Amino acid sequence: MEIHAIQTGFVAVKSRQREGAGHGKARLARTFFDRNWSDRLPIYAYAIEHPEGVIVVDTGETARATEPGYFPRWHPYFRFGVREWVEPEEEIGPRLRQLGIEAGDVRKLVLTHLHTDHAGGLHHFQGIETLVTRTELELASGRRGRLRGYPNNRWPEWWNPTPVALSGPPVGPFEASLDLTETGDVTLIPLPGHTPGHIGVLIQEGDSAVLMAGDSSYSQDLMVRGAVDGVAPDERAARDTIDRIQAFCRETPTVYLVAHDPGTAARLERRETVDVGGRSQQSDA
Ligand SMILES: [Zn+2]
Repeated sequence: MEIHAIQTGFVAVKSRQREGAGHGKARLARTFFDRNWSDRLPIYAYAIEHPEGVIVVDTGETARATEPGYFPRWHPYFRFGVREWVEPEEEIGPRLRQLGIEAGDVRKLVLTHLHTDHAGGLHHFQGIETLVTRTELELASGRRGRLRGYPNNRWPEWWNPTPVALSGPPVGPFEASLDLTETGDVTLIPLPGHTPGHIGVLIQEGDSAVLMAGDSSYSQDLMVRGAVDGVAPDERAARDTIDRIQAFCRETPTVYLVAHDPGTAARLERRETVDVGGRSQQSDA
């Protein structure tokens, strides 16, 4: 099975967004008022060339995100909390074409969550079945969704996603699942935390696994250290998800991929599995 990491430009966030400090509301405030920016981080999406058809995971960001007025200026996060760089030829449509895949031939599109840098390329996928959790869709929709930082006025008019609930059996430490293929080798798993409806895509390759973990952490190293980001609305849920990811990686050799880790594409290429160590996780940051 060919799996591609597809970079759709760069994002920078506050350092405290990558790795949160403190707890509760103070944690969110420290992220917001942090004066330090991260490096330019990649924005990754993925394409899985499965025998049953191509599955795309996330859509990256659109070049329009760099136009003044694309994001609401009244929203403090877009005004003060994030910077993005995307060229038109870096959007997921052209990127897929370079790989010999027409966006219209994709069998399924999965969104780990609906933040703009994961849903910004939706306009390339008209007519393609798109799976997103019901929880994520509800939180991201309407005026309240826009207040929460989901610019849903930029979703294409025709967009009609399929809201899913993960109704399948547990997979290791993950409490539920949903098979995406007849062969059962590509599965959605719940990874709540960064957002409440956040999911990951787990691919079985023989005895090992590839885990597309969305924004469960901002790098592999941060996951190994058990660090929770500085924007997850529910810190406890985010920590619990990281504990489960670590537990899974102890049981199964796993290539761990997150959207904003500069090491993601190289690890996928080399099928480099993560060593989370045998030690117990930090219980506190
Ligand atoms: Zn996100």
